[in-house]
Formats: sequence, structure tokens, C-alpha cells
Amino acid sequence: MKEKFYIFLGPPGAGKGTQAKYLADKFNFHQISTGDILRYNVDQGTELGKIAHSYISEGKLVPDDIILDLVKDYLGRFRGQVNGFIFDGFPRTIDQAEGLNEILQENQNKIDKVIYFNVDEQTIIARNINRRVCPKCKKVYNLLVKPPEHDLLCDICQVELVQREDDKPDVISDRLNVYKAKTEPLIDFYKQTDKFVEINGQLSVEQVAIHLEKEINGI
Ligand code: AMP
Repeated sequence: MKEKFYIFLGPPGAGKGTQAKYLADKFNFHQISTGDILRYNVDQGTELGKIAHSYISEGKLVPDDIILDLVKDYLGRFRGQVNGFIFDGFPRTIDQAEGLNEILQENQNKIDKVIYFNVDEQTIIARNINRRVCPKCKKVYNLLVKPPEHDLLCDICQVELVQREDDKPDVISDRLNVYKAKTEPLIDFYKQTDKFVEINGQLSVEQVAIHLEKEINGI
């Protein structure tokens, strides 16, 4: 069976990561979250992590060539082992999107759908400010809509949750500006293809998941 390729496009905090994890489990896809991979490298103190940290901490984008090499590497590692891939938080620039097309073409693959999570700016800011993460298992919570069961402790590890350094209010506004300048143009880029699908990212996690499952099942 030919592998499927999905892009989840949308502003930070739109719910892409939550949905990508859920769907990857359900359909045996591999989630390629460039943000998660970069943060892992920062935690591990790798060379890539050291370079990436200087960009991430200021809400800037890591250079396109670094990101494209990383994605190529992950695709190579997981090809043939899963039913498909969900790109979460990638591509983030037109150059990354063109680079991805080239990588896929080299292997006679193509994007199946680009799913754009439409969420208004107020909701985005509230979601980012209220996001908390378990430093151990990386499970993501939201103090407003998906709080932990007890205080600020991870339900699984019982470790105190932390706020991502780039979810602090001053960095969030920089990230949103970068999103508007560099990533939003991808909406028109992909609208020119017949792969573009828009979903209402304001809905609950469960409702968004239902819409996405229909898209994946081709209903
Ligand atoms: P995310 O977890 O997707 O919000 O990403 C966190 C940060 O990692 C971003 O603000 C960027 O600094 C960096 N990053 C993640 N993905 C990319 C990408 N595709 N291109 C450039 N930088 C990225």
C-alpha cells in the first residue's frame, strides 16, 4: 500500500500536535513534528539543539536547509514501516514547501491533503499562554480546556508541569508575527492545489478529531 502524506497547517496552538498524535496512533502514521524533534535535540544538547535553541527562544524560524535535512532524515528512517506521515508544524515557509515537494518527488510520493486549522487570534493567544507540558513524558495540557487531574502535576508521571519558554507572552507575539509573515502565505500556496482542506480549529478536540478522521477516510 502506498504511504499517505498529510500536512497540518495552522498557527501555533491551533491543536495540530494534539490531533497529529491521536491520528498517528489510530491509523499507524508517523507524526513528524519539527518542533518536537528540535526540542528533543535542545534537551539532549546536540549540535543541532544548540543551533536551534537560539532561534526557538526568540520565536524565530530555524533556517530552511536545517529543517529540510532533518525531515529528509526522518522520512528515510520511517519509510516502509508506517501507513503514512503527518507533517505537524512543517512546512512553515514557501521554500520548505517547495523543498518538501522535491523530497517527495524523488521517491514518487506526493501530498495527499493539506489540512488548515482555522483558529482566531484571541483563541490562539489564550491557548498558548495556558499550554503546559510534562517535562518527563512531554504530554501536553491546557489549563483552560484540558487541565491535569491534580494541581499542576502530570497525570501520568506526577511531575510538575512546565511552560515552554516560547509560550511566554512576549515570545508568543513574536511567533505569531513570524507565522503571519512566513507561514500564512502557505494557505494561498496550497489553495492553488486540489489538496487543500480547511477545518474549524475552534471546535472541541473531539469534534476536530471527527472531522479529521473523515478527511483521512476520504468521506
Ligand atoms: P512548534 O512546536 O511547532 O511551535 O515549534 C517551536 C519552534 O521550533 C518554532 O517557533 C521554531 O523556532 C522552531 N520550528 C519548528 N518547526 C519549524 C520549521 N518547520 N521551520 C523552522 N522552524 C521551526
